[in-house]
Amino acid sequence: MSNAKLPKSVDPFRLAEQNAGLEGYIPLSALGRFFDCILGPAASDAADQCVVSLSFGMDDERRRIVSGRLRAEVVLECQRCLKPMAAILTSNFRLGLVTSDEQALQLPNELEPFQTENFDADIWTMVEDELLLVLPSFPLHERSDCQATDVLESFERDPEAPEPEAEKRENPFDVLADLKKPRH
Ligand SMILES: [Zn+2]
Repeated sequence: MSNAKLPKSVDPFRLAEQNAGLEGYIPLSALGRFFDCILGPAASDAADQCVVSLSFGMDDERRRIVSGRLRAEVVLECQRCLKPMAAILTSNFRLGLVTSDEQALQLPNELEPFQTENFDADIWTMVEDELLLVLPSFPLHERSDCQATDVLESFERDPEAPEPEAEKRENPFDVLADLKKPRH
């Protein structure tokens, strides 16, 4: 775990000219759009962190570049059993610094644009965008860890098999149906 917080805004153009590097963490709870998509940070100590390492510079074409790595330990909701599952999100990314849509369109395919109008760029939002890109849209436990695996396997063995007993519990709406029955 890194113990320095990543600065929230920087002048990326100056950093690129200096070939500078930045390392630090961002509290996950400060990244609201991302935080709303996860159950929470991992339970381990000081895990409410996205650890980030960025390097700024120029490529051979004299384009200004930010390349970076990130890592965050989070808890997601398994979409099979709907129970929490731990996940480690990592990403390596490489962005071209641009100031306009026209410049963004001129970037080669391998570079995603990081567009900023001024010299006070919000790099927390940049990192948040990268986190959202690596967030699985349909997270699933490994089968051996998933509480829904037994149900799934019995279903796979015999697709015609009756539903497990738990599913047959009395449906509260049956009571309503009884109440609605006309009494003679
Ligand atoms: Zn599961």
